[in-house]
Amino acid sequence: MHVGSYRGRGLSRFRTLNTAAFYVEIKDKSDIAAAFEAARKRGLKVFVLGGGSNVFFENSEIKSAVIKNSLPAKIEHLGGDLYRVSSGLEMMQLLNFALKNSLDCCYYLASAPCQVGGAIAMNAGSGIKDGLSVSDFVESVEYFDGKRIIETPKSDIDFGFRHTTFLEKETFIISAVLRLPRKKIDGNPIRERLEWACKNQDLESNNCGSLCDKYYAPILKLARMLFKFAPAGLSEKKLNWAVNKSDNPVWLKSLLRLISLLHSMLGKALKFEIRIVP
Ligand SMILES: Cc1cc2nc3c(=O)[nH]c(=O)nc-3n(C[C@H](O)[C@H](O)[C@H](O)COP(=O)(O)OP(=O)(O)OC[C@H]3O[C@@H](n4cnc5c(N)ncnc54)[C@H](O)[C@@H]3O)c2cc1C
Repeated sequence: MHVGSYRGRGLSRFRTLNTAAFYVEIKDKSDIAAAFEAARKRGLKVFVLGGGSNVFFENSEIKSAVIKNSLPAKIEHLGGDLYRVSSGLEMMQLLNFALKNSLDCCYYLASAPCQVGGAIAMNAGSGIKDGLSVSDFVESVEYFDGKRIIETPKSDIDFGFRHTTFLEKETFIISAVLRLPRKKIDGNPIRERLEWACKNQDLESNNCGSLCDKYYAPILKLARMLFKFAPAGLSEKKLNWAVNKSDNPVWLKSLLRLISLLHSMLGKALKFEIRIVP
């Protein structure tokens, strides 16, 4: 395990230019404990980075220790409907495997450019009304809990809307056992979802998907208007969708601050879906 540094636009799909003074890529699970320990020794908070599709690094110089999941992509058939998948597997790799083998899976995540580990940590899914999420397929999760590696059954994990136990403390999801039953699949649900995303989402600019779980639309509309000519703002196509064209995270940071401030001034509920990392 080698602690290095990182400078570039590749940490988040917002594509801001960031420097991480503490940056480690985990390629083998035996390195996780040492990486966490090295961060702690330097008094840094740990941030485990997956595909970067739901994260905003709010400072050009990142203050947290960035531990990037680079575990090899693996799918192992355990027998019956059960498969162990590594957390470093791209969601699209999982979905292509499932479709090829006529297995039920979270095809609605075809448009989310994430890793399986990140999808489990966020309990990624479809909209709140559909109530579908990756947790529907999870049987157990293997993870580093800050001290040791454990395997925990689904019943011991709190899966909420875009929330799980894994986000509450510093953890690293290593793999999961998924139940993917055989299913007759009509058409191509991956292609259909990608076509839906092209029509309904704003994929023209750098983005991290939906911005908030809870918000007051008139405030977002006002913020969108005020940031209309700034290099970061809210999409004209989809209100709850932050977009960024700037290297400097300060534009997006100012937008998020303004949104927070207006919600607290008017006593309105706000919950950011994206993870904001100092
Ligand atoms: C175009 C687009 C479309 C999207 N569509 C959807 C959608 O339909 N539904 C949806 O729910 N989301 C969607 N998202 C958001 C995003 O893809 C999901 O939230 C996804 O779960 C994030 O996974 P990631 O691997 O990119 O994680 P990251 O963005 O890197 O991290 C997100 C959070 O997960 C944690 N995390 C990541 N990996 C691990 C790990 N191995 N162990 C522990 N914690 C970990 C991080 O610490 C962080 O708190 C979309 C994003 C984009 C850009």
